[in-house]
Amino acid sequence: MHKNPVVIIGAGPAGLAAGHELIRREKCPIILERDGIVGGISRTESYKDFHFDIGGHRFYTKNEEINRLWQEMLGADFLKVNRLSRLYYQGKFFNYPLRPTNALFNLGPVESLLVLISYCRARLSPQPQENSFEEWVVNRFGERLYRTFFKTYTEKVWGIPCKEIRADWAAQRIKGLSLLVAVTNALFGGQQAKSLIEQFSYPRLGPGMMWQRFMDRIVAGGGKVMLHCEVSAILHDNSRITAVEYRNGGTAGELNAEHFISSMPIPTLVQLFQPQPPAAVLQSGSRLAYRAFIIVVLIIDRQALFPDQWLYIHSPKVQVGRIQNFKNWSRSMVPDQSKTSIGMEYFCNENDSTWKRTDHELVEMATREMEEMGFGPASQVIDSYVVRQSHAYPVYDSTYKQNLLTIRNYLDNFSNLQTIGRSGMHRYNNMDHSMQTGILAAKNSCGEHHDIWAVNEEKSYLEEDKAARETPIVPEKILIRAFARMDKLAFAVAVGTVCGLLVFSATLWIISRGGDVLNSHLRLLGQYFIGYTVTVKGGFLAFGYSFFWGFLAGWLFAYLRNLFLAIYIYRIKRKVELLSLKDFFDNF
Ligand SMILES: Cc1cc2nc3c(=O)[nH]c(=O)nc-3n(C[C@H](O)[C@H](O)[C@H](O)COP(=O)(O)OP(=O)(O)OC[C@H]3O[C@@H](n4cnc5c(N)ncnc54)[C@H](O)[C@@H]3O)c2cc1C
Repeated sequence: MHKNPVVIIGAGPAGLAAGHELIRREKCPIILERDGIVGGISRTESYKDFHFDIGGHRFYTKNEEINRLWQEMLGADFLKVNRLSRLYYQGKFFNYPLRPTNALFNLGPVESLLVLISYCRARLSPQPQENSFEEWVVNRFGERLYRTFFKTYTEKVWGIPCKEIRADWAAQRIKGLSLLVAVTNALFGGQQAKSLIEQFSYPRLGPGMMWQRFMDRIVAGGGKVMLHCEVSAILHDNSRITAVEYRNGGTAGELNAEHFISSMPIPTLVQLFQPQPPAAVLQSGSRLAYRAFIIVVLIIDRQALFPDQWLYIHSPKVQVGRIQNFKNWSRSMVPDQSKTSIGMEYFCNENDSTWKRTDHELVEMATREMEEMGFGPASQVIDSYVVRQSHAYPVYDSTYKQNLLTIRNYLDNFSNLQTIGRSGMHRYNNMDHSMQTGILAAKNSCGEHHDIWAVNEEKSYLEEDKAARETPIVPEKILIRAFARMDKLAFAVAVGTVCGLLVFSATLWIISRGGDVLNSHLRLLGQYFIGYTVTVKGGFLAFGYSFFWGFLAGWLFAYLRNLFLAIYIYRIKRKVELLSLKDFFDNF
């Protein structure tokens, strides 16, 4: 064994990516994982050979290094899945993003009319402030559509009214759309944005398959992944971490190392420090909140239930927020194709009334709700399984930034500790971001200098934004110039003057040539320009006429060009707004 190993806390995507990078660099990582399997929130659980995720996990990334790694790990087992995920509301399935014809058909004529009126009202007199999710959606879709399709689901996920979802949190996924980004995206990036949304990759046996391969590589390379080992204390001398203590069932252990990398939730990390950090740091940690998640897997004695990989449940009558249908992600997720396994997803807080329900109560609720929604009778549910997941979603409330900063400032004192991943950084990181932070931390522990906190710092969750970043860089000035409004008067004067000068000079030119050969043709102008003759006086008259018609044509052209451009830009903006909303739900 290497004398100075790097100790990594947590075998989720971040910890495993860090471990893998260290193996590549011939270092020796030791990963301590509390759970009995690897993958963290992205693990795949199994029950009687039915496999399921903690919420469905789509694999997509714009990071080539991560993409290559994924492909390399799984090869042919990394499937391409054509996405289908709709909204379920009042017994009907709505396309997502909403398509007008589908929405009109499902809502019926009366409700559609009311929706239209509320939409027009919102567009004609929008609310001046757009600080919350509610205001943003109402301004674009109207109060009625907002209440139908957006309010209930969002509130199920976050457990607070949409009015209280603050700008800080919303800003990471509701981007104030820049016209420039929208137009650039429409012109150069449309296809990429489309492909991101409509297709994703998925391991044949669920994400756990990926993480198992990472673990195998680490172990084969001489590293260690110690399962069922929960870190219970972080020992330090105020400037360096000296060791971590861990519990493995009834036994305890201690590990020294040169470097420590942690992907466990950052508030828990500081709580484990010995000696204890200052009270302000502990207090900040206790104020960082996380939303929890419960998945109730129902195994149903039916071959097919619905064709989607998942459904967003917008009905306020049931508590379930989303339903996964795992065999639609990959057939291999179920051992018997005559059965279907669905994951009824409930968003909650750790230790609230939903969290505290017994497994039996949760299964009863899920079965009842499934039946109420018309997915089949309760009698077809032949088995079930429940998983509770704490620290599923870092909450961006009004104080999280300050609290996080206090903790980060304290942790900066420790030269050999890095925090990575989603809960480890209290950041809304996806798998690829989490892995990226792990890789950078591993590189840093080998002497490089990377800023881990720069990963996913921006509003990078918007697929529109991602696509925009992928588009060829078009100099802003050129775009702004090309799409600027045309000055009608100036353009009309210019066209009029050019036309007038052309006819005037043509007349003079013919006079100067003796007026022999071509004057008969030009004289025909007299039929349109009353009084025109091929003379100097006629030239001035023709100038006046030509200027007038040129002016008119120029003005009309500029007017129509501005109008069509305005309509075009409006349509692009609306399209991008819809895309950003789609992403908004996708990342819950
Ligand atoms: C419902 C849901 C759906 C999602 N869908 C997607 C998706 O479609 N695509 C996508 O890219 N991302 C998705 N994500 C995000 C993804 O799950 C995370 O980005 C990823 O799992 C974070 O990896 P991580 O290693 O940072 O943290 P985690 O996955 O949380 O791993 C941390 C690990 O640390 C371990 N640990 C904690 N405390 C200790 C301790 N004291 N001692 C030892 N070990 C400890 C934990 O057991 C865990 O294994 C989703 C998340 C949720 C909640």
